[in-house]
Amino acid sequence: MKLKLALHWKILIGMGLGVALGLLMSTFEGGKEIVQDWIKPFGKIFINALKLIAIPLILAALIKGVSDLKDISKLSKMGGRTIGIYLTTTVIAVSIGLFLVNLIQPGTSITESTRTEMVSNYTESTQAYKETAKSRQQEGPLKPLEDLVTDNIFASATSNRNMLQVIFFAIFFGIGLILIPQEMGSTVKHFFDGFNEVILKMVDLIMLTAPYGVFALLAAIVVEAPSVDLFKALAWYSTTVIIGLGIMIGIYTVLVFVFTKRSPKFFINGISPAQLLAFSTSSSAATLPVTMERVTEHLGVEEEAASFVLPIGATINMDGTSLYQAVAAVFIAQAFGMDLDFSTQLGIIATATLASIGSAAVPGAGMVMLVGVMGYAGIPEAGLALIFAVDRPLDMLRTSVNVTGDGAVSMLVAKSVGKLGAPKVKNWDDNYPSV
Ligand code: ASP
Repeated sequence: MKLKLALHWKILIGMGLGVALGLLMSTFEGGKEIVQDWIKPFGKIFINALKLIAIPLILAALIKGVSDLKDISKLSKMGGRTIGIYLTTTVIAVSIGLFLVNLIQPGTSITESTRTEMVSNYTESTQAYKETAKSRQQEGPLKPLEDLVTDNIFASATSNRNMLQVIFFAIFFGIGLILIPQEMGSTVKHFFDGFNEVILKMVDLIMLTAPYGVFALLAAIVVEAPSVDLFKALAWYSTTVIIGLGIMIGIYTVLVFVFTKRSPKFFINGISPAQLLAFSTSSSAATLPVTMERVTEHLGVEEEAASFVLPIGATINMDGTSLYQAVAAVFIAQAFGMDLDFSTQLGIIATATLASIGSAAVPGAGMVMLVGVMGYAGIPEAGLALIFAVDRPLDMLRTSVNVTGDGAVSMLVAKSVGKLGAPKVKNWDDNYPSV
């Protein structure tokens, strides 16, 4: 008898085996290098394959999505709701983070000697973060707006960091397509419709290799992880972030239930592969193709809505990141014995919201932008060293929340504009071809 396991089980088994291999290889000398030389590259190949299709997917999906709307007023209605709901969920996330960090006070458990030791251990790496963040801070206030409009779309499309420019171009192109006579536009539209389908099929194919990809990624993360002692010192801090992230997942399921009448089980089942991938890759951008596929095929969001809402969400909506930034900033302040007054904490809500919007959808980006939040509140940058050790696992978790938030908001927006229907496929992995 041939055993046929559903893909999500295979991915979970891949993750478990990856962790087990990482732990095993950490026990003897040379084990780490073996994983880095022979296992890690497969993880990299997997992430690259996902990233490879992110930009073409954004282009094709957005051009198709916008031109399907056929009407500029519908587009502005959807755009307004998308941005409005994204901002609201982000402000909720930061507020929850602030509430929890003030309640639990994880920073007070760090003694002065631990703090001094940790800060001196990590100065070099924190320096790199500070420099990246500094160069961003030196930019004028309108720089993000200026950056939105590229002078060369081909140059922008060659870097996953310029996703907003590609999004802008695609929406602009889509609007142009709506405005020209149909007989002229239909060929171009058919081309992008077909292109979009091809990309989505490529996602299905890449997903078949996901169990092996996540296996390699997790094995490499585990062998490269710092010592368990550091984790212990940061247990309260991590717990605070994790509780906050858990609450956000709860809020999404409630919002989805209240506004769309879809059950938590339906939502979580549908979005879970994207969550697992976000966890393994720590990148909303790399996960975008899969989020798109899950939301349209399994959660019933029509393509016009998903292809508009999700690429924007992957780039600007990072609820997990904003929550983490609020907790981390206040945690470091507590560890340094600083008392942040109410108005500074209110300012953190604004700065963390903006910082999360500005964070690139790649691993560790949230920590770079955290420097801005700390700078605003006058928290010493050296404090970044305190949270370094646990940043990767927290990045994995916050990225899962970022992606879940994008999925939930796409359902809410779709419902509000009459574009939420029945899922195209029923079972979790019906869509994936068997090989
Ligand atoms: N890794 C996160 C993401 O891609 C961003 C961050 O918080 O570092 O969504």
